[in-house]
Amino acid sequence: MAEVRTGGCQCGAVRFRVEGELGHGSICHCRMCQKAYGNVFAPLVSVREAMLLWTKAEPKRFQSSNLVQRGFCPDCGTPLTYEAPDGVALSIAAFDDPTDIAPVIQFGTEGRLPWVNGLHNLPERTTLEDVEAAPFLDKLISHQHPDHD
Ligand SMILES: [Zn+2]
Ligand SMILES: [Zn+2]
Repeated sequence: MAEVRTGGCQCGAVRFRVEGELGHGSICHCRMCQKAYGNVFAPLVSVREAMLLWTKAEPKRFQSSNLVQRGFCPDCGTPLTYEAPDGVALSIAAFDDPTDIAPVIQFGTEGRLPWVNGLHNLPERTTLEDVEAAPFLDKLISHQHPDHD
């Protein structure tokens, strides 16, 4: 039986199902990916060799160049796809369980922000170690879709 994985956007309006082998995971530092993700790089995994099904709404798409579309949830804005003529890639962290989808290559490194390679040297705190945030967290009610269908 083929491997089956699920995922979707933060609000749950857009959900996907992937059957079959995932391709290589990557992160892309190019300026187009930075803007599409509103972030410092884009973590993506190719689903070119697998079957991708949209099981709720489809993403809305922005034609970011003549050759590429970027899919995102029209309701909550989560970036979900990179769609090129040679296939589709999905945002790694949009999977319900992204634990084992490790990137194996970095692309677009000419666009890498100068401080990205030092991120692992920053001081660390878990959410619960952040005592100043405790009153806020005590009142917090998540509206995020759970990590399953
Ligand atoms: Zn959404
Ligand atoms: Zn890129």
